[in-house]
Amino acid sequence: MDKYTIIRKYFGHSTFRRGQEELIDSILSGRDCLGIMPTGGGKSLCYQVPALLLPGLTLVISPLISLMKDQVAALEKAGIPAAFLNSAMDSDEYRRICAGLRRGEYKLIYAAPERLENEGFLQMMCGLEVSLAAVDEAHCISQWGQDFRPSYLSIADSLAKLPKRPVLAAFTATATEEVRQDIIRLLRLEEPSILVTGFDRPNLFFDVQHPKDKTAALHALLRERRDRSGIVYCATRAKVEQVSAGLERAGIPAARYHAGLSDEERRQNQDDFQYDRKTVMVATNAFGMGIDKSNVSFVIHYNMPKSLEAYYQEAGRAGRDGSPADCILLFSGGDIATARFLIEHGSGNDALTPEEQDAVRQSDMQRLQAMADYCRTGQCLRGALLRYFGQEAPESCGSCGNCCGRFVVQDITIPAQKILSCVKRIAGKLGYSVGKALLIRTLRGGRDQRLLSLGLDSLTTYGIMREDSPGTIRSYLEFLEEQGYLETDPQYGAVRLTPKASEVLFRGKKVEMPVREDRRREQPAEKAPSGDASALFSVLKALRTKIAQQEGVPAYIVFTNAALQDMAARAPRSMEEFLAVSGVGEVKAARYGSAFLSAIGEYLEKEGR
Ligand code: ADP
Ligand code: MG
Ligand code: ZN
Repeated sequence: MDKYTIIRKYFGHSTFRRGQEELIDSILSGRDCLGIMPTGGGKSLCYQVPALLLPGLTLVISPLISLMKDQVAALEKAGIPAAFLNSAMDSDEYRRICAGLRRGEYKLIYAAPERLENEGFLQMMCGLEVSLAAVDEAHCISQWGQDFRPSYLSIADSLAKLPKRPVLAAFTATATEEVRQDIIRLLRLEEPSILVTGFDRPNLFFDVQHPKDKTAALHALLRERRDRSGIVYCATRAKVEQVSAGLERAGIPAARYHAGLSDEERRQNQDDFQYDRKTVMVATNAFGMGIDKSNVSFVIHYNMPKSLEAYYQEAGRAGRDGSPADCILLFSGGDIATARFLIEHGSGNDALTPEEQDAVRQSDMQRLQAMADYCRTGQCLRGALLRYFGQEAPESCGSCGNCCGRFVVQDITIPAQKILSCVKRIAGKLGYSVGKALLIRTLRGGRDQRLLSLGLDSLTTYGIMREDSPGTIRSYLEFLEEQGYLETDPQYGAVRLTPKASEVLFRGKKVEMPVREDRRREQPAEKAPSGDASALFSVLKALRTKIAQQEGVPAYIVFTNAALQDMAARAPRSMEEFLAVSGVGEVKAARYGSAFLSAIGEYLEKEGR
């Protein structure tokens, strides 16, 4: 039998997809390989076909039990003898499969990397003819990637103990150079043929929406997709609970999935979704690595993920069968603060030194920035994704939210003048330029240590854009840069004026920015404080609760939420500044001022400002 007969006979496909044939040929010729294909690109076939053509056994190393189970079930259905071994199965079952292996009954055996560290298992494998070892989701070996699994690091050592080293084939959807090098080095691939297929998924429609009310937007999107199956990703378990409960109340049948549920419930809910008993799955990113439900026709992100890598992987679970599918991201400025919090407070990787952990966190922050830029761009979204993954892309794809969206022109001459003149004044005062973040804080009247110590609060442009959210100002900045009024120093990230800026500053040139119609209304909305202000807000709220309890009054009597928010944003340090907080009159200032001021002072000191 040849490979063409096999895909027809066992898998029912008439042709190979991009890259599959090359990878299969490489394996069959005995050469190691690394296959990099997008999610849904068809990586499994690349080792399943050789498994049937090579003598002996193919060992598939795969990170997740649920994934193994599904794949083995699918292979069995196709008439291919396969099995998996995992720690969760009872000993009878385990023994039965080992006996089958010794009798040479299986062509493929799936196992988690931890299994290879087990002496008994390795010994058994030494007695078998293993022709091919396929490492799926190979990016798990890299500490730079999303889903680092320490046990992946021991794969190479374990395989070296086999009497004959099998051909080694690694597969991943993660394309970054760092991760690629880690895979080759740590798996000890020998002169591997490396194949990177294009990352485009032409059947996916990408969109980013900036709704005022995410719940309403989500319900509307789901009502338009009543009978279709899809996934709604949320950033946290709590959000999953909240969103799925809301859908239940609205009569939209939704299952939920996150790491806080019992194994039993997760299995049940995944089944409900897999078998279309419930059409919508609301989940954290714990759901999905390797799920192969080919009729997922939309993936909606209720929150922005931490990186474009994560986003593309999750969104890519839509439309695996090749039919049109939607990938919609519901963005709000608060998502950035949440993602930043998750990065800062995420469980560190114990295998790394503190310095390395810092480096990982820093590259996480850079990835977050790229993700946020994607959410705010007015350019082709598909192009933005492809270029991020190192692939060239045309200016416009004609089938994403930005290419198809309706744009209206917004006159931003006034904010542009404010921004440019602030850049000019900062440079005038300091003799050098500063980065975007500090520039934005200056425009919004921030009170952090760095800003104050540079004396930027004495500029006339200090605080002239208080009313605009940081996200809005950033989008103006990016547009001004695109239009050549500003430039960023590639080394230090400092933002400078270009000669062209004087047209706007002194010659009355109008600046018009295209804004997607459905995004225009969002602008100053960001009511809830984000980032620093949000942490301080929690501190202030706790103090308010304590005072309210002591005085036996409801909390809002002490200060309203709005007052606390303004207080958090301004972070007053003196009684005079405290009085400027909206909702603070003289009586309240006299009564509560010292308590709140000392709480704020303590907070700022702890933050090192
Ligand atoms: P990946 O692991 O790269 O994310 P999978 O191996 O799970 O992707 O394959 C995704 C889907 O593509 C599966 O539903 C599979 O049946 C289908 N598929 C794979 N190869 C082909 C092919 N040559 N022709 C048609 N469909 C294919
Ligand atoms: Mg896969
Ligand atoms: Zn486009």
